[in-house]
Amino acid sequence: TRFLTRIAKSRHLNAYLEVFEEEALEKARLLDARIKNGEPVGALAGVVIGIKDVICYKGHKVSAASRILENFTSLYSATAVERLLEADAIIIGNLNCDEFAMGSTNENSAYGPVLNALDNTRVPGGSSGGSAVAVQADLCHVSLGSDTGGSVRQPADFCGIVGLKPTYGRISRHGLIAYASSFDQIGIFGRNIADVAAVLQVIAGPDEYDSTASQKEVPLYHVGPEHNKSYKLAYLKDALYHEGLDPEMKAGYESCFEELKAAGNTITPADFAYLDYVVPAYYVLTTAEASSNLSRFDGVKYGHSTPLTNLDLVGFYKKSRSEGFGKEVKRRILLGTFVLSAGYYDAYYTKAQQVRRLVVDKLTTLLSQYDAILMPTVPSTAFKIGEKMEDPIAMYLADIYTVLANLAGVPAISVPLHRHSNGMPYGIQIITKKFDEANLLNIAQQLM
Ligand code: GLN
Repeated sequence: TRFLTRIAKSRHLNAYLEVFEEEALEKARLLDARIKNGEPVGALAGVVIGIKDVICYKGHKVSAASRILENFTSLYSATAVERLLEADAIIIGNLNCDEFAMGSTNENSAYGPVLNALDNTRVPGGSSGGSAVAVQADLCHVSLGSDTGGSVRQPADFCGIVGLKPTYGRISRHGLIAYASSFDQIGIFGRNIADVAAVLQVIAGPDEYDSTASQKEVPLYHVGPEHNKSYKLAYLKDALYHEGLDPEMKAGYESCFEELKAAGNTITPADFAYLDYVVPAYYVLTTAEASSNLSRFDGVKYGHSTPLTNLDLVGFYKKSRSEGFGKEVKRRILLGTFVLSAGYYDAYYTKAQQVRRLVVDKLTTLLSQYDAILMPTVPSTAFKIGEKMEDPIAMYLADIYTVLANLAGVPAISVPLHRHSNGMPYGIQIITKKFDEANLLNIAQQLM
């Protein structure tokens, strides 16, 4: 009830699209009764969780914040949701986001923008803006988002909380509405590392419904005494000295590196050399995958269909899609279709795949030499509402530090670091090699 009261008072933030009030209360009552009877309860008993509106929960609406899925109800639950429920978590509602998880500000939602709770004139980041604000404003304990190119880490950074993107394949994508399938991963927002670790423990692991979910055993994720170990760390020089990085933040990272050194870690500058290529490669590859994934929304199978008039079939598809998709989604479908078209495939799609290979190889080499790599999460603090909407390229370029982990499929976390003199928080990002979340979480704890 505490969260329900707070949600009711925070309607203006627009974080929740729907609150499952009756159901959540009923779950809480049942759980209380079980505890009173001395019955065993799950690992997440009573933990209140909000989920991004791209994650299916059987019998509940899911729309990817798009008109094209208005009033669509999930026929099954995502594996992650099933596992949360089995662990007795309480799912309290679904959370606003950018349409189909495309965006960095949550301004591309068909249901309006989400406001940053620390400063209502600023964006919370995106695409999982609602998920970030729900945790930031204490409207749930933890939340799930999805991270294709930063959509968990970037809003966590803008909102001053923790955001984890696990290794590609660590959490099943079954029941996650696809944006770019070789990049997408469910991620977790929390106020501290222990909460994030507890949720990861429950939802990670193999799944027969997702062949890209890894068969690797799930180790114990906990923040233990090893968080005080001395780690071998590196920071990316090209990230720290990038011209786009806010100078005050740069100084903040430098002092953080000094503190890490003083605490007994080694921290070495490392060259990455491909940083300026990651955003173009990311947008070529993700729009290509998106154009294919989103072709299933044709007005027939799901969601919005335009009234049948005297349109022929192709006309019907076109009209349903034109009415259902928003501007940014259309832009990306067009871009993706273009880079995959016969005449341009080699020049763009193949080229971007080659860049992805280079980036993966280089990062793998670096990660074999260090326990973790550190860099900023975003080059600036939270944008003002509207600030970046007229300039999509500028908006895309702000993803420079986050898309790398998705191109390479490695785990990455953003933890809050300092407050900028403009009053807004900013975080630091930690990256480790694949399936090394246990170390990632412990290193992150050192920075909290
Ligand atoms: N800002 C990035 C984009 O718009 C990231 C999106 C995401 O991770 N879902 O594609």
